[in-house]
Amino acid sequence: MATRRVIIAGAGISGLALAHNLRALGLDPLVLEQAARAGGKIHSEQRAGYLCEWGPAGLQGDDPAVQRLLRELALDARVEPAQAAARRRFVVAAGELVPVPTSPGQLVRTRLLGPLAKLRALGDLVLGRGPISQGGEESVATFARRRLGRGAAERVLYPLVSGLYAGDPEQISVADAVPWLAELEQRDRSLMMGGLRKLWQARRQRRRGLISFKHGLEELTAALARELGPRLRLDTVVETVTRDRGQLELGVRQGAERRTLQTDAVVLALPAPQAAAAVAALSPALPRVLGAIPYVPVVLVHLGYAPGALARPPDGYGFLVAPDEPPGLLGAVFASSVFPQRAPLAHALVSTRLGGARNPELVHLSDAELTQLAVARLTPLLGARQEPAFVRVVRHVEALPQYTLGHAARVAAVDAAEEHQPGLYFTGNGYRGLGIPDCIRNAATLAQRIAREVTQARAHAA
Ligand SMILES: Cc1cc2nc3c(=O)[nH]c(=O)nc-3n(C[C@H](O)[C@H](O)[C@H](O)COP(=O)(O)OP(=O)(O)OC[C@H]3O[C@@H](n4cnc5c(N)ncnc54)[C@H](O)[C@@H]3O)c2cc1C
Repeated sequence: MATRRVIIAGAGISGLALAHNLRALGLDPLVLEQAARAGGKIHSEQRAGYLCEWGPAGLQGDDPAVQRLLRELALDARVEPAQAAARRRFVVAAGELVPVPTSPGQLVRTRLLGPLAKLRALGDLVLGRGPISQGGEESVATFARRRLGRGAAERVLYPLVSGLYAGDPEQISVADAVPWLAELEQRDRSLMMGGLRKLWQARRQRRRGLISFKHGLEELTAALARELGPRLRLDTVVETVTRDRGQLELGVRQGAERRTLQTDAVVLALPAPQAAAAVAALSPALPRVLGAIPYVPVVLVHLGYAPGALARPPDGYGFLVAPDEPPGLLGAVFASSVFPQRAPLAHALVSTRLGGARNPELVHLSDAELTQLAVARLTPLLGARQEPAFVRVVRHVEALPQYTLGHAARVAAVDAAEEHQPGLYFTGNGYRGLGIPDCIRNAATLAQRIAREVTQARAHAA
């Protein structure tokens, strides 16, 4: 392998989008990926007429960075917008699917909360701002209880966090993990008023909302991988990053063969635990801070139902489960209701999610046990009269990073340690947002910085 100026470890959306941006800025990156395919958590699998997403079900298409990337990849014509029904979301409470209220009027009418909980939740309209406005930190649970009271916190906001992060609301930092929620309080003083403002804005601007592609989300990462051609090496594990007389060196393994690559810049676009392992010999500080970013496991059990098998066919985006329900099931995406091509005509595909911070041990159950659990919990909700016609189980041992209290300080510590290691960079979903649009935006920002610093270093060396 030839020596390159910028080597990127990891071909998830973060590493691939970074390579795309670096090339647009005139650099020639090389991407090394341990797996036999590119895409990382993004993987769309066609099986028996069903299209199963192994990770994300869709991405928000309104972000300018996403729109720019889709234009540059000529993917606009491949975009599949979510059905209007996807705006309907449910929470499982007292064993039933209940629509999530999205306005003060719906809050007054909802079955999700009793009269006292509703009254307390309306307190959000008059309460002042909390500790975040003074630079403090708050967990999602504390924030939600303070604004809405315990009832609405547990039935509306906690499920949201288990939906996004599969996390524990008592541990997750609201400002780091759900910044838009913290911003509603800062900007509008009230979550409800802020939420309404955002809803009206979205309607006025005719936003695109949730999108995917005709053959699933992997079309995006496949297009990025395709344009890289030989600049992407699969089945290539980055084992170590060290330094020899100022020059960065990568210890790389391809099958049984090990080799060393010298380079001026390395980007670890890896989950934080893998990044920590790679830099262990380079810096004692970095593995400590990287290793302090926890990850939780998530299992997806995709269930396909034949026509007529469900008394109440799924109609909406899906549901999340309130914390006072039996543990195990985090929620489900009604995949074929959001994107109809995900299942054969008149069939339904439901992607259940299990595990997370509350039940990490579930990842070790067998496929049969996981299927049994998912089917048992889904059957009363959708009125299933038959067993599923199709089952696909997908496990992620380290599915999602948890932006727990202290996350901002940990990211600052990574930045500070990075300062002492010229040419070494970290990106990926472990640091500054885990949605696909966050990864794409962060990649674009980092590419600008790397291009600037590599150009400066070249000028200095010349
Ligand atoms: C179940 C689930 C549902 C989700 N739902 C959504 C959603 O609906 N919308 C949304 O926007 N986001 C969603 N996300 C989040 C989003 O998918 C991820 O945050 C994003 O895909 C992460 O991309 P990444 O490139 O940062 O990391 P990854 O995708 O994890 O990529 C890292 C890559 O590094 C490789 N690698 C690891 N170690 C090495 C090594 N030593 N050498 C070389 N390569 C290595 C891995 O094989 C992998 O390909 C979901 C995630 C999960 C797990």
